[in-house]
Amino acid sequence: MNILRHLPAIHELKAHSRFTEMVLNIDIAEDVLTEWLDEQVDLMRNKIRSNKITDQTLNREKIAELIFAALEQKVKAFEKNNLQKVVNATGVVLHTNLGRARLSKRAIEHISNTASSYSTLEYQLSTGKRGSRHDIVEDYLKQITGAEAAMVVNNNAAAVYLVLKALASSREVIVSRGELVEIGGSFRISEIMEESGAELVEVGTTNKTYASDYERAITEETALLMKVHKSNFSLIGFTKDVDTTELVNISREKNIPIYEDLGSGTLFDFKKQQIGTEPTVQEKVNLGIDVISFSGDKLLGGPQAGVIVGKKHLIEKMKKHQLARVLRVDKFTLAGIEGTLKSYIKGRAENEIPTVRDILEPDHSVLEKAQTFIEKVSSRETAFTFHIERGKSKVGGGTMPDVDIDTFVVKVNHQQYTSKELAEKLRFNHIPIIVRVKHDDVILDFRTVHRDELDIVIEAFLQMEEEV
Ligand SMILES: *Cc1c(COP(=O)(O)O)cnc(C)c1O
Repeated sequence: MNILRHLPAIHELKAHSRFTEMVLNIDIAEDVLTEWLDEQVDLMRNKIRSNKITDQTLNREKIAELIFAALEQKVKAFEKNNLQKVVNATGVVLHTNLGRARLSKRAIEHISNTASSYSTLEYQLSTGKRGSRHDIVEDYLKQITGAEAAMVVNNNAAAVYLVLKALASSREVIVSRGELVEIGGSFRISEIMEESGAELVEVGTTNKTYASDYERAITEETALLMKVHKSNFSLIGFTKDVDTTELVNISREKNIPIYEDLGSGTLFDFKKQQIGTEPTVQEKVNLGIDVISFSGDKLLGGPQAGVIVGKKHLIEKMKKHQLARVLRVDKFTLAGIEGTLKSYIKGRAENEIPTVRDILEPDHSVLEKAQTFIEKVSSRETAFTFHIERGKSKVGGGTMPDVDIDTFVVKVNHQQYTSKELAEKLRFNHIPIIVRVKHDDVILDFRTVHRDELDIVIEAFLQMEEEV
C-alpha cells in the first residue's frame, strides 16, 4: 500500500519535537521510551499492512501524530499500577478476586514501620544473637487458641502440604470421601496429598462416613487421620459426619494423630452473634485435635498466610522440615499477623479488624450509608433511578456458604445504559468501583464500602450525571 511509504523512519520520530519533549517531561527512562516508540511504529506498520488503516489523506506528519498519540496512551496506562485499589460494593466481605481481607490499621502501621527500617526478624535483643522468625507470633497464637505450639507459612494450601509432607510422607492418610473438596478450582486435597507423597485412603461415601469406617481403615502404615472442614460447600439432607469427639477417641486409642484443615479458621466466635455455625480454632484445640491449619486472610482478617497450631512435638517436626524453609513467610506477613492478632488479645477484634467488623455490621448501619449515598446523588434531575431494598451480603472466600447476612442494597438503573454498561463505567472510574449486576439492575451493597470510601462512589455517580 502506498500509505506505507509515508511511515516515518525511527530516526525522524526520535528527532521530532513531540518525542524530545516527552523525553524531557515524562519520568520514564529514555531507553524504555524509545523501545515503546519502536513498538508503536511496528504496530502502525502492521495496521497499514493489514488494511486497518486506509485513510489515503494520511501524510508523514499525520502518521507521526497518530504514533505519538498511541505512545502517550501507553505512558498514561503505565502510570496506573497493575495492582490497583478498588472499592468493593459487592457486599462480599472476603472477595477472593479483590484480595480477600483488608487489614486493620494496627496491622498496616506495623507492616509500614517494618518495611522502612531494620527489624528483629531473626535477632534476639536479650543476647545479641540470632533469633528465630518462628518466635514472632507463636506466643500470640498459643494464647488465643490454647494450642501448645504454632507456626506460620505462606498460605493454608502450603500449610496442608507441609503437614502432609512432614507427618505423613510415604505413609497413609485417612480422609472421608465427603470431605475431599476442591477449593476455588485450584486446590484439591487429593492432589496436594499426591504431591506430598502421602497416600490417600478414602473412607465412607460422599454423604455418610462413620467412625467405624476410619477404625477399619487403620493399618500399620497409617500416619494421620485427616478432617477437612467443609467451608465452601454444604451437604444438605441425609448425611452423616463423624463426630469429632469419636474420631479423637479413635486417634488416642490407636495412637495416630488427627489433623484438621479448618480452611477459614475463625478466632472470633461468629456463632455467638447468630452468624453461621463456624467452629472457632479454640474449640477445635479443646476437642483434642492434634494439628489444625487455617488461612490468615479469610475470617482471621489478616494477610495471606497459613497458620498451623497443635501439639508441640508435631509442630517442632514441621519447623525442622526442609520444606518449612521453602514455605516461610516474610517480615511483612509476620508484621501483619502480629498487628492483627494483637487486636484479638486486646478483645478488640469487632472494632479493629475490618473483616470481623464488616460481617457484624448491623443492617441499619449499612442502610445509613445507602441513604447518604442516595441523598448526595439524587438531588437533581437525573437519568438514574435509585431504590433501596432489603438484600443479602455474603462472607465469601469459600467461607460460611449458607450464611446470608441481612443488608440493604441500592438498586440502580439508568435511562440509557444497560446494567452491564453501567457496571463497566464504574470499573473504569479513576478508582474502580466493583458492583453486583443482577439482570437489569446494578446492585450496590454498602456493607463492604467504608464510610471514608463513600465519597468515591458519590463522585463517580455525580460525574456520570454530568456526562449525559
Ligand atoms: C481456603 C482453603 C484452603 C486454602 O487456603 P489458602 O490460604 O487460600 O491457601 C485450604 N483448605 C480449605 C478447607 C480452605 O477453605
